[in-house]
Amino acid sequence: MTAHVPVKDDFLLSALLSRQRAAFLRDAHPSAAQRRSDLLKLKRALLARRPRFEAAISKDFGYRSAYETRIMEIIPIIQAINYLRRNVRKWMRPERRRVSLHFLPGRASVIYQPVGVVGIVAPWNYPLSLAVMPLLSAIAAGNRVIIKPSELTPATSDLLKAMLRDIFSEDQVAVVTGGPELGAAFSRLPFDHLVFTGSTNVGRMVLKEAAENLVPVTLELGGKSPTVIGPDADIPTAAASVAYGKLANAGQTCIAPDYVLIHEKDAAAFVASYGETATTFYPGGADDQNYTSIASARHYARQRTLLEDAEKKGARIIGCGKDGASGGHKLAPAIVLNVTDDMMLMREEIFGPILPIVTYRSLDDAISYINRRPRPLALYYFGSSGEDRQKILTRTISGNVTVNDTLMHYVQNALPFGGIGMSGMGAYHGIEGFKSLSHAKGVFEQSRWNLGGLLRPPFNRATDWVIRYLLR
Ligand code: NAD
Repeated sequence: MTAHVPVKDDFLLSALLSRQRAAFLRDAHPSAAQRRSDLLKLKRALLARRPRFEAAISKDFGYRSAYETRIMEIIPIIQAINYLRRNVRKWMRPERRRVSLHFLPGRASVIYQPVGVVGIVAPWNYPLSLAVMPLLSAIAAGNRVIIKPSELTPATSDLLKAMLRDIFSEDQVAVVTGGPELGAAFSRLPFDHLVFTGSTNVGRMVLKEAAENLVPVTLELGGKSPTVIGPDADIPTAAASVAYGKLANAGQTCIAPDYVLIHEKDAAAFVASYGETATTFYPGGADDQNYTSIASARHYARQRTLLEDAEKKGARIIGCGKDGASGGHKLAPAIVLNVTDDMMLMREEIFGPILPIVTYRSLDDAISYINRRPRPLALYYFGSSGEDRQKILTRTISGNVTVNDTLMHYVQNALPFGGIGMSGMGAYHGIEGFKSLSHAKGVFEQSRWNLGGLLRPPFNRATDWVIRYLLR
């Protein structure tokens, strides 16, 4: 234990984990009916508190419209619950596997067993759904859960804690609140699995801490997700989709299109269409009732620094609409042209409503631009050529991809969600979430009569015959 963590926290966390583990051992394989009922309880509790969550998130952010919270957080959770409830019974069934001839009539199968207690560390940008979505996978897989939400969204965390306390016992699902120090103490706990969603830097620290106890970790990190506008793309449609994906939650989305790669012949048309869409979506500019605030003064200042740094280094900045005049931290959308690699906004994940435009001369150039950088969490491609699409899909490596739109892979319940390399490891959502929080236990059942005895001493001619057969 390092000195800067209050002993009290470590002690309380360990005690909570012990209580959950003891409860797990008393009921180590909740039935499908139990898991479906837990998911339903959660769905009902969330729907009953929907307006309160919308208000809490808006308070935490300084402002976020209820529509945005409903569409970006609550609907995906409800849809995921419905999907898991429909499928969990089927996923829980033992899977029969083939056995080789000489092991017949023995039987092999895989049993998906809950791992035990899962820790979840969540970020602030979608403070409800990024805590609850991993919880859904964990419940479907039959586990107990302790969640540590972000300290930057206290109203939402308190409401989440109160809701989960109302519907689950503390030894089934618990929430602990605190900042980075608590996060570090949390990551040191000997969980059976840890799901971390947040920045790459903190993810690296979490992985190190978890390694001490060999805790398996799912890392859902961030990065710079590229958007490739193919040479044959319909520019107004692509610009509208990029504006949607970039400006939802004012760009504070892990899978937001970070920057655009576009053929140099199309850049001007794209910029014009993007600006038009931004003002159609948000006619009131940054003060528009549907436009979200940057979550804090610190995050707002960072966005301003990104713009100032780019301008100083020769970028051209085109504002799309008015900045916020009503207080808070509302930053108008901006496009940045003439960007270079030394600008901060091309070196760091932007996480705000700023869109750099990078031009290419051939799709191959765009592909090598992406491949020279860390593997991104998401990639977007717009275009109608099957050949180009195939090139992008097979020659770039990223978390997930949406073709001809943005963000939408996230809400496909049947798709895994997760990054690769610097954008994360492991996946959840759908059956992958169920499997990654289950132990796939291979079981072989020997039959009373079998050929195995021929391979045990004393050896004889029958042994030679079996060996010849197996080595054929
Ligand atoms: P963050 O890494 O600062 O914090 C995430 C969580 O980690 C918070 O709960 C925080 O309290 C905790 N934490 C902080 N220091 C810690 C430590 N030393 N040990 C353990 N836990 C610690 O991230 P953030 O600013 O809340 O979120 C933004 C980042 O998250 C962006 O990079 C974004 O791309 C990424 N993100 C990824 C996904 C995804 O699904 N892949 C989703 C949303 C956000």
